[in-house]
Amino acid sequence: MEVTPLADWTGSKGPCVIAGPCAAESEEQVRRTAEELSRDERVSVYRAGIWKPRTRPGCFEGVGKVGLDWLRAVKNEFGLLTITEVATPYHVDACLAAGIDVFWVGARTTTSPFAVQEVAGALRGADVPVLVKNPMNPDLGLWIGALERLHSVGIKKLGAIHRGFTPFQQSIYRNAPNWQIPIELKRRLPGLPLLSDPSHIAGNTELIKPVAQKALDLAMDGLMIEAHIDPTVAKSDKSQQLRPAEISALLDLLSVRSETSANHGSSSSQLSLSP
Ligand code: PEP
Ligand code: MN
Repeated sequence: MEVTPLADWTGSKGPCVIAGPCAAESEEQVRRTAEELSRDERVSVYRAGIWKPRTRPGCFEGVGKVGLDWLRAVKNEFGLLTITEVATPYHVDACLAAGIDVFWVGARTTTSPFAVQEVAGALRGADVPVLVKNPMNPDLGLWIGALERLHSVGIKKLGAIHRGFTPFQQSIYRNAPNWQIPIELKRRLPGLPLLSDPSHIAGNTELIKPVAQKALDLAMDGLMIEAHIDPTVAKSDKSQQLRPAEISALLDLLSVRSETSANHGSSSSQLSLSP
């Protein structure tokens, strides 16, 4: 599978850092979180969910289309690339019209080939990068299948995100990592950029650092981490969101191994993503 290298569209020299709130909640929350994150040049992509897939109804399901304007404003004002989740052709069309830079396919969607096929159909002919999260269950075939469905409609700027799997037994993780699965994915699709989402693996702020370090030790190409201007009032995933300053503190503590594919040529060092 021919895939465009991550650095070609992120511009990142080292691991790509994607940060931002679980969900866009208000124009001010989106803007203030982005403003603070943009002060750290290691953050190159700003995430925010616009439509939130909630396990049960009655929870905050996202602000919907209006949030796309807030993301576009962030892009214009702070120069960050923007990424959001798409799960239906309607989401894809709205994001393409709004000029969202990067799309991600969420774990619940990857689990459903019908849903992935619909998203892929809406993306046919679009030159946008798409990152595919692993399915909820540890099924490598579903993950590869989703990537293939997107690749076959012409998406070449592809990547995968390991965000852990629903645990069947009691676990310290919200979504237990199973590192063998992304490692096997990389073995089967060697050129595919592979990122990790330590926020959704951990489910709390304490475990984010060891999970992020593990991902970098495995030479993963980037991290997606949730950040909120005030996590105490977050409308979703409150217990796992970091403040923007905590994202910078975390990045200071992480070290990148020289083998990280996006970091050829330098020796093991602190996370250094300055251009
Ligand atoms: C998210 O990133 O906020 C999200 C809903 O992710 P996942 O699909 O990994 O649960
Ligand atoms: Mn979330």
